[in-house]
Amino acid sequence: MNYIPLARPFIRREEEEEVVDTLRSGLIATGPKTEQFERELALYLGRRHAMGTNSCTAALHLGLLALGVGAGDEVVTTPMTFVATVNPIVYIGAKPVFVDVEPDTLDIDPVLIEEAITARTKAIVVTHLYGHPCEMDEISEIAQRYGLKVIGDCAHAIEAEYKGKKVGSLGAIDCFSFYATKNLTTGNGGMLMTDEDSVAHLVQSLRDHGMSPGAWARYHTGELEGYPMTNLGYKYIMWDIPAALGLQQLRRLEQRHKKRLEIAAKYNAALGSLSEHVEVLHPRSHVKHAYHLYVIRLNGIDRDRVAPEMEARGIGVGIHYRPVHLEPYYRQRFKHSDGEFPVAEDAGARVLSLPFWPEMKQEEVERVVETLESVISENRSL
Ligand SMILES: *Cc1c(COP(=O)(O)O)cnc(C)c1O
Repeated sequence: MNYIPLARPFIRREEEEEVVDTLRSGLIATGPKTEQFERELALYLGRRHAMGTNSCTAALHLGLLALGVGAGDEVVTTPMTFVATVNPIVYIGAKPVFVDVEPDTLDIDPVLIEEAITARTKAIVVTHLYGHPCEMDEISEIAQRYGLKVIGDCAHAIEAEYKGKKVGSLGAIDCFSFYATKNLTTGNGGMLMTDEDSVAHLVQSLRDHGMSPGAWARYHTGELEGYPMTNLGYKYIMWDIPAALGLQQLRRLEQRHKKRLEIAAKYNAALGSLSEHVEVLHPRSHVKHAYHLYVIRLNGIDRDRVAPEMEARGIGVGIHYRPVHLEPYYRQRFKHSDGEFPVAEDAGARVLSLPFWPEMKQEEVERVVETLESVISENRSL
């Protein structure tokens, strides 16, 4: 039987033609497609500035730098995320201060954020996990009260809305990923969104070697001089081949999101009564869930036996995530140990991501559910 992967990108003729157009234009580094993709995504999310990068990790790094977070500062964040949310905090010499998550959504718990704030805290980095928005009203209110900035890791959450607003419009800075598995993909790529002109100005320079206002603008004006290196920058800028893909992916984003909701509803219906060992995660009523991943929680059965069994039977599954503080590097460097963040640790041991993409066929959903049912019943009897 065919392998059913965890996710599958959707690349069609439109993407191919846009990329070929780029290749034939002679402008294959940062140029008009990047500008257009930035403009269109800013419009989609209702943001003033959008700056393309070569990854979300780079965007998060630039965001922290642009907010002036540095050595000795503390940044409050979630352990229930991909390591790339937290690594940039360490790049800049700041300390990640983890707080636990809420049991139903696995998003960062606002009450615990406030308890973790000290005189050294400079920012809060939140992840809208799986595409389910964090409680941004509470989080923004706390940030405002303590004079902190919120950076949103929106890698899962491009279509997500919180109380009718795009979640990518709610942080001082919001960062997106266009990695191969994400809801909108350019293979690799990212974008930083902000409404603050000063942040945008700095990011513009830092993503392009610290030379402002950027190679494309230099090319535009034909100027050879006049843009000195003013900051220690990085080579993080987006370029036009991925931007061409992104432009076309954006055109289909909402239409594909509707299909995500349909597939999620099929899974919910089939899994809701499958077994007492399977727990479906339901979104809160005031959010629009982006459904980047479809994640269940297993009860009373060993997830680490179920997951390889699913793979052995041709079903791609994932574990999103084992908590960041328990990664060997974080344990060692920041002296973390088991038991510090019980909700995240419990979820980390029990979550399982099932194959999920908008074009999934009914038979594929059924095969996933049937395989899960038999794997569970066989492992229960062991
Ligand atoms: C994919 C992902 C990232 C990293 O994105 P890149 O574009 O690969 O750097 C960061 N955070 C989360 C939650 C992710 O899923």
